[in-house]
Parts: sequence; C-alpha cells; structure tokens
Amino acid sequence: MTTTDPLVARMRPFGTTIFAEMSALAVRTGAVNLGQGFPDTDGPPEMLAAAAEALRTGHNQYPPGPGIPALRAAVAAHQRRFWNLEYDPDGEVVVTAGATEAVAASILALCEAGDEVVCFEPYYDSYAASIALAGAVRRPVTLRPGADGRYAFDPAELRAAFGPRTRLVLLNSPHNPTGKVFTADELALVAELCREHDTYAVTDEVYEHLVFTDAAAAHLPLATLPGMRERTLRVSSAGKTFSCTGWKVGWVSGPASLVAAVLRVKQFLTFVNAGPLQPAVAVALGLPDAYFTGFRDDLQHRRDQLVAGLADAGFGVLAPEGTYFVTADVTALGGRDGVDFCRSLPERCGVVAVPTQVFYDDTAAGRRLIRFAFCKRPEVLAEAVTRLRRLREH
Ligand code: PMP
Ligand code: GLN
Repeated sequence: MTTTDPLVARMRPFGTTIFAEMSALAVRTGAVNLGQGFPDTDGPPEMLAAAAEALRTGHNQYPPGPGIPALRAAVAAHQRRFWNLEYDPDGEVVVTAGATEAVAASILALCEAGDEVVCFEPYYDSYAASIALAGAVRRPVTLRPGADGRYAFDPAELRAAFGPRTRLVLLNSPHNPTGKVFTADELALVAELCREHDTYAVTDEVYEHLVFTDAAAAHLPLATLPGMRERTLRVSSAGKTFSCTGWKVGWVSGPASLVAAVLRVKQFLTFVNAGPLQPAVAVALGLPDAYFTGFRDDLQHRRDQLVAGLADAGFGVLAPEGTYFVTADVTALGGRDGVDFCRSLPERCGVVAVPTQVFYDDTAAGRRLIRFAFCKRPEVLAEAVTRLRRLREH
C-alpha cells in the first residue's frame, strides 16, 4: 500500500462540507445553529401519519426503480397544479434520494469528461462535487449584490460562459444561499442561450414554494419558457417544502429520453430509496393550497424577524426574496473574512452561521458575506438575535 492520499484526485479539492463542519461546531459549543438549513419543527401531520402508517403496513421493501406510482402521479399533478407543466408519471418522472441525487445523477448522465456546466456562484456545494465526479468543468457566473440590495449577474458574463463545450446549465431558483429569485427577463436570457447553444438545463427548484409576497418576481420554472421543456430536467424535493430534510425524497421530471438517462445512472447510485416515505410525500404534495401559502407566510414572518434582528445587531443585511436564508455582510462589525468570522462566532456570542465564500470560485466576491438560516422557531431566532447583539458590546 502506498501512503499517499487514496482519494481520487478529482475529489481532493473537496473537504468536509461546510454544513457538517458548522453543525458539528454548533453541537460542540452549544451555539444556536443558524448554519445548516433544516427546520426545527416537523412537517404536516397528515404526511407524518401516512409515513407511520406505511411503516406499520408492510411498505418496507424496495419500491419500484422510478418510484412508487402514487408518488410519481402526485409529482406530476403538483406540477400541473402550480406551474401548468405536464409530465407523464410513467416515464417522465423519477424519484431520487433527495434533490442532491437528482442533480448528481443528471450531471453524471449527461456530461462527458471535459464537458462544461454553466452555473451561478455562489453555488450549492454539491454542484461542484457532482460536476467534478463527472469529469466535467464548471463555468460559474457570479451573482453580485447591487445598489438595490438584489443579487444580479452581468448578462455579458453569462453569454461569455457559454461555448462549444457547454453541455448544460445548472440553475437554482429560488437560489441558495443568496435568496435570489431569478426574474422573467433573467430566465429568458438563460433560455435564449440554451437554445442558441443547444444545451440542456438542470433546474434545482427545491425552494419553489418559498418566494415571499414582496419579491420582485414570482417563481417561474425555466421549463415553462419557449423551447425549454424538451431540454430541461426539473428537480425538486420534499425536504424543504414539507420540513423533512432527513427524509431525502426528491424527484426529477423532464422529457422521457432525459429522464431515462437519469434513471440509468440513478439505479446504480442508490437503486431506490425511502420506500415507506414515498406514499407520505404523495399525500403531502396533494395538500390544499392553504398548506403551501401558510408555509410561505410562516417563513416570511421568520425572515422579517431575522432580517430586522441582524440589522439591529449591526450587520449589513441583504434581504432575500425566497428560500430559508438571509445573507449578511460582516464589514460593519469589523469582520474582514466570513470564514474567520463564522469560526469564531460561537465562541464570541454562541451563534453559528455559514460563510458563503466557500460557495464561490471567485472567493473575493463572497469574502465578507455569511449566511443565516431562518427556518427556526421564532423563540430560537429571538435568542440568536439577543446573542448577536453582544458582538457590538465587545
Ligand atoms: N439544492 C439546494 C439549492 C438546496 O438548498 C438543498 C438543500 N435542501 C438541496 C439541493 C438538497 O436537497 P435534498 O436534501 O433534497 O437532497
Ligand atoms: N441545503 C442545506 C443548506 O443549504 C444543507 C444540506 C446539507 O447539509 N448538505 O443549508
């Protein structure tokens, strides 16, 4: 045996995820964890009851490869109900181990080594790793906060990121970690470039139900734009919408040929997953509209609470239009580097946040930005704010 690192070279740049590092730090220090995005309350009771029932009534073996028919039907019906998108549950929908596997399997299914993937930075951390596993190359376009407090990209930079090797664009809207909701004009440019360069799109829409009522844009799936349905794999998952991040039930929808390609890969990654949870997610997807609007309103109140609290504590705050997250600039509190700031935050005041710098190739663009999650009970957010106010006192 050699003593060199056994890990393949393409994975060596990836250490432990920032979410695991920061959650471990929170446990170790007893800090309030506003780092990793997971709710601290359970999802809808109807869904939990259906899962318990499935566990007790013999749904504990391998489900079918593409997912149980009831869940695939519910995924298709949900997309018709909310986005007016038609997918055939038999052949155009596959259930995955969370959105994470859906994105990974899509990239692995579509990209040859050397193919390029256009994405927006800061990007969700698994994207870079999945692109690397495929031997593909990421071409990030930077989202920068403007004078109006909204993140935007330079259209010329996006245009320049597309080239002869571009295989697909990976688009996350509503966007983690910035909370940006891509506007119709921005999406139109993405679609235009996909059509012009004849590329695929993989859209990560796990926050599809978390666009706040004061956002500049409503959520618009890229697949609804002209010429896009036939080239788009649309990804979502139950974790965020139904507050069950540990269940890891996701799905991907698209034209049959693309979905078949994803299934080919997925069957050798996990084969199947979450047998007894699948019927429960089918129930949840069919909940009345009031569930989805109530969920959004609830998170919007929490956003408002945390945004106000962070501003009061002295942070520069970039209020999000959607998602679970708010970005804060640490400069006004004397911070020069988000990573250093987050590593010392538990000791300084007993709160954990995530430095967004780690989601950029151009780390300078995110150097002073950190992310707080507000998917927590109001009393937890209030306690975090009380603690953060101490930063100014010392
Ligand atoms: N994409 C984004 C943008 C996310 O924020 C997350 C975390 N929910 C995921 C993918 C992963 O989703 P899942 O837990 O369903 O794999
Ligand atoms: N999506 C969650 C976040 O952004 C974390 C998921 C994870 O830990 N991989 O915080």
